Order: sequence, then C-alpha cells, then structure tokens
Amino acid sequence: DSIANQIAAGEVVQRPASAVKELLENSIDAGSTNIKLIVKEAGKSLIQVIDNGAGMSENDARMSFERHATSKLRKSEDLFSIRTMGFRGEALASIAAISQVELKTKQDEEELGTLLQIDGSELKKHEAVSCKTGTSICVKNLFYNVPARRNFLKSNPVELKHIIDEFVRIALANPDIHLSFMQNDLEVYNLPPGKLSHRIVNIFGKNYKEQLATCEENTSHINIRGYIGKPEFAKKTRGEQFFFANNRFIKSSYLNHAVLNAYEGLLPENHHPFYVLFIEIDPKHIDINVHPTKTEIKFEDERTMYAIIRSAVKQALGTHNI
Ligand code: ADP
Ligand code: MG
Repeated sequence: DSIANQIAAGEVVQRPASAVKELLENSIDAGSTNIKLIVKEAGKSLIQVIDNGAGMSENDARMSFERHATSKLRKSEDLFSIRTMGFRGEALASIAAISQVELKTKQDEEELGTLLQIDGSELKKHEAVSCKTGTSICVKNLFYNVPARRNFLKSNPVELKHIIDEFVRIALANPDIHLSFMQNDLEVYNLPPGKLSHRIVNIFGKNYKEQLATCEENTSHINIRGYIGKPEFAKKTRGEQFFFANNRFIKSSYLNHAVLNAYEGLLPENHHPFYVLFIEIDPKHIDINVHPTKTEIKFEDERTMYAIIRSAVKQALGTHNI
C-alpha cells in the first residue's frame, strides 16, 4: 500500500541526489553511450535523465515500477561481482511512490514507444508514443506527497552539491560514456567520451593535466589503476579523493590513510592530495555483510590492501626506493 511504499521509498531515496544516482545507474546498465541529466531547483522540482540505451518494451516499462521487479535479479551478496549497477529492483518503485514520474521508452526494433505517467505510485497515463530509442524519465516534485521529507531537504546549493558529487563519481567510473548535466538551463558539465585522464581534466580543469601521475599495480590479489595528483598540487580542501572497487564508488578512511601514508613528508600541512583509484578485486575478498546502499565497505584482508595501495602510490610518486 501507499504508506508502506513511501516508507520503503525513503530508504532508497533520501534526497534528490539519490534519485539522480539510481537513474544514471539504470541508464548505464541499459548500455547507453550518451546520457543527459537535467535538473531544476537542485532536483527538487525536476530530475530528468535521457539516455540512448536499450529502452524497455511496453510490458517491461509497466513492470519496472513494481517493487522488486528487476530484470537484473541477483543476490545482494553478489554486489561487487555483478556487472550491473542495479539489482534490487527498488529504485523506480521508490521514486514513483514519492514523485510524479513521466517515462518515455522505446526499444530499437519497435516503431512506437511507451509513455507512462505515474503520480505517487498511481498510474495516470499509459499510451503509445513516438520517440527515439532509449529512455527518458522525468521525476517531478520529489517528496510532493511526503511533506516531512520535503521540508527536511537542504538549501538548493547544498542539494545541488550532492547531485554534483554523484554525477562526478559516475562520470569518473564511466569515461567512455558521453555525460552531460544541465541545471536550470545552464550547463554544469558536458563530458565527451574518452580516456580517464581526459575525463579528469574535463571535470576538474585543464591545470590537472600536468599534475597527474599514473598509478598502477597488479598483484595476484588485486589490480590497482588510476591517477594521483603530484604533492605540490595538494589542496587545503578535501573532496577530490576517489576510490572505486570493481567500478563502484566506495568510501574507505582506512585506504585513504594508506594513500596519505605514501605521501608522508611530501605534503604541506593540512593538505589533501588528488586521487582517482580503481581497485579490481575478487568479490569474495570483500566483506559481504555490507548494506547495498552504503558506500562504506570492508575488505577481508585490510592490511594487505593497505600495503598494496601504499606501495602503488609510492611507486607513482617515484619515492618507492627512497
Ligand atoms: P534495478 O536497477 O535494481 O533492476 P530499478 O528499479 O532501478 O531496479 O529499475 C527497474 C527495471 O527497470 C530495471 O531492472 C530495468 O529493467 C528497467 N530500467 C530502468 N531504467 C531503465 C533505463 N534507463 N533503460 C532501460 N531499462 C531501464
Ligand atoms: Mg536501478
């Protein structure tokens, strides 16, 4: 029923940025090569994601808003082994429970696509529509029927910052996808597909180009690749430190410490280095008792991870043998 739906929804969607994350991940899972994100008022009045992915059949489109209706059904234990970002089949159902959704979707072989309009889980419109292959989903007035939640949202700049954070994480993990982001008709990002180094420069600025050092380390246990910033490029502000495990963004203060440890003696006081590091690891070495929506994870053998990360960063800094 609708109350249960709204409570469940609140667990998946805490703020506009969580809806943005889920929608972008769905577009990635659909094999899109071009994804556009459009938001108004920091996502409070509109979040739209337009992709050129596989689209959905009429039946799949209807099903996609049912709770636990996923085309990607897996066990949650498999979170870090599965190749799709989604697997719970909860995001669209949750979003539709607490907003006004308009979905347009079409598969390549179909002549006409499907238009669905859903207000607070209630189907308002269902018709055939002519549209391009792919999916466009508009999420309007998030939490319009949950005033307590809506009133709890932070100011537009704060909510927009959360959206930017999610967008940047996804953009770094998918440099081969063209991603763009408009807010209130202004372009926030337009990121053409290319190499990771180009993506970093396109996101953070031209001056990052000379500041990156390649980081790579392959052991029987894990593979690490990515870029770190040169020590003299470190900043007083945090927020440009990224770890990904099997292409999912993760937070790990422990691994962050391993990186900082490698910079020891090289950083001015209270400065934080830039880094974007991708860890490929057999999922059986990742602690499985981790909540799927949490980005904090634990590795089975943390000490080894620490040592490998530290050594990889030292190597990249050219201080390995010093
Ligand atoms: P999950 O991603 O966990 O499967 P979601 O609620 O996010 O669950 O999506 C439900 C289903 O809707 C997906 O499994 C997928 O089949 C379909 N879907 C959602 N978004 C898209 C999209 N942009 N393109 C194609 N299919 C989509
Ligand atoms: Mg999903």
